[in-house]
Amino acid sequence: TFKALVVETGDPYTAQIRQASVDELPPGDVLVRVAYSSLNYKDGLAITGAGKVIRSFPMVPGIDLAGTVLESASPDYKPGDAVILTGWGVGERHWGGLAELARVRAEWLVPLPDGLTLQQAMGIGTAGFTAMLAVMALEAHTIDKNRDVLVTGAAGGVGSVATALLARLGYRVVASTGRTSEEAYLKSLGAGEILHRSVLAAPAKPLESERFGGAVDTVGGAVLAGVLPRMAYGSSVAACGNAGGVKLETTVFPFILRGVNLLGIDSVMCPREKRLRAWQRLAHDLPKPLLEAAIQTVSLEEVPGLAQAILQGQVRGRVVVRLS
Ligand code: NAP
Repeated sequence: TFKALVVETGDPYTAQIRQASVDELPPGDVLVRVAYSSLNYKDGLAITGAGKVIRSFPMVPGIDLAGTVLESASPDYKPGDAVILTGWGVGERHWGGLAELARVRAEWLVPLPDGLTLQQAMGIGTAGFTAMLAVMALEAHTIDKNRDVLVTGAAGGVGSVATALLARLGYRVVASTGRTSEEAYLKSLGAGEILHRSVLAAPAKPLESERFGGAVDTVGGAVLAGVLPRMAYGSSVAACGNAGGVKLETTVFPFILRGVNLLGIDSVMCPREKRLRAWQRLAHDLPKPLLEAAIQTVSLEEVPGLAQAILQGQVRGRVVVRLS
């Protein structure tokens, strides 16, 4: 048997730690001893039941994991290999990372890149991987180096990694946050300026003065509506989150008068080639001391409480969960 956080539906919806047997694991060709998982916004929704994330019950949540291969029926992996998994519906429709063991499909795995430990890999996790995809999307559309680059929800997981990455790449980062208490933290990640969330969330004109040469938005809703009118001519916004709402009320003017691009970011079904490139970039471009500054490591027992906190926007940076 092994220890797992198991979510059961019904009345009430529960998330409890219990012993599970290997026979309960879903089918897959690789058995992984999970060393670390992490806590993402989506895990908060899954564990509390606040969002309909889980597709079948009982479910082990945890949308990402890093660990060591124990058994493999795939020619691509052998026992002892260090691997990472993010997305593919793991922790939603297939038992996930918040357990000591996971059985998964080989094609979902990425070998741990040189230069990262398993713990650092989950310090990055789905959130950091998504931040990298957002930065790569902006780069593919060019970022104006002479202008500020905006990150919203900056003190959260995606936001922290995006801030550190963009600062490291030489951009002047404006970090938008609702938590003024996190100002020193955000500056330590490399933010050049802090912008209060309320400025962006306030009703905006269809076009405000052109300020940002690129933006990573993790918030959506009113904040994204406030970002678009402030984007400079020809610039792009990478939209990757909805922590502040799913509705977007805006006008077409930023798009048709300023050629602004709204780039959608999805990490779950991201193709393998792009995944490998993103992990290589993360291993290379994300300074380890900044990554360490954004991480807290917790036990599985602490996860249900933190799942509530992440939905309330109270978690700073990234939470790594130690499994074995
Ligand atoms: P997180 O750590 O909770 O970060 C979200 C941040 O958003 C919070 O720290 C907070 O930042 C801000 N925020 C929270 N509630 C808000 C509200 N009501 N109004 C305005 N701002 C609010 O979560 P995460 O794991 O980084 O994920 C961030 C978002 O990206 C989530 O919506 C998640 O679902 C999404 N995501 C998407 C993908 C994808 O594939 N597209 C992958 C990963 C994550 P401040 O305190 O700094 O304001």
